[in-house]
Amino acid sequence: MAFELPPLPYDYDALEPFLSEQTLTLHHDKHHQGYVNGLNEAEEKVAAAREAGDFGSIRALCDALAFNYSGHLFHSIFWSNMSPDGGGMPDGPLMEQINADFGDFESFKAQFLAATNSVQASGWGVLAWQPLGEKLVILQAEKHQNLTQWGVQPIMVLDVWEHAYYLDYQNRRSEFTEGFFDVVNWEDVAARLQRVMQSGA
Ligand code: MN
Repeated sequence: MAFELPPLPYDYDALEPFLSEQTLTLHHDKHHQGYVNGLNEAEEKVAAAREAGDFGSIRALCDALAFNYSGHLFHSIFWSNMSPDGGGMPDGPLMEQINADFGDFESFKAQFLAATNSVQASGWGVLAWQPLGEKLVILQAEKHQNLTQWGVQPIMVLDVWEHAYYLDYQNRRSEFTEGFFDVVNWEDVAARLQRVMQSGA
């Protein structure tokens, strides 16, 4: 069963002025589609390698599976993490968990922005549920797949590859990441937290 590009959950111009129609169109239709295509292609090649009994390119195939799957997953989360009606503060169980694990919302936001802004080259800021410690953690991902903790469940991600913001912000990454908090969809983040907290380690 091939992976498919999920539709953007709002119009391409719905997040203006935070992100332009041009940026979202390129980002969703070209970049995200590229990861979906790359993932399907990698799975086909792994199946072909099994059938042929030839694993000569398995290292490159494992790299392609990790890179493209993680790219597909993170972009799928990222789109629904934002909303034209987003921004403000979270509430309910999400806010309680943020307070428990980071002290308060401002401390959480400061750590999330510092981690995201300092990603080396292309990558992501990631808020994730860590089942082993039953807590929220903030991580960086270089490219899409590096520096993870196995088993953590990402619930909020912020793309800081240049393709995510360069047309609108050029090299001003921190203006882009700060603006993310004006569109962040806390209901989506809270719903994701509720789901993954029940899944266990
Ligand atoms: Mn991206």
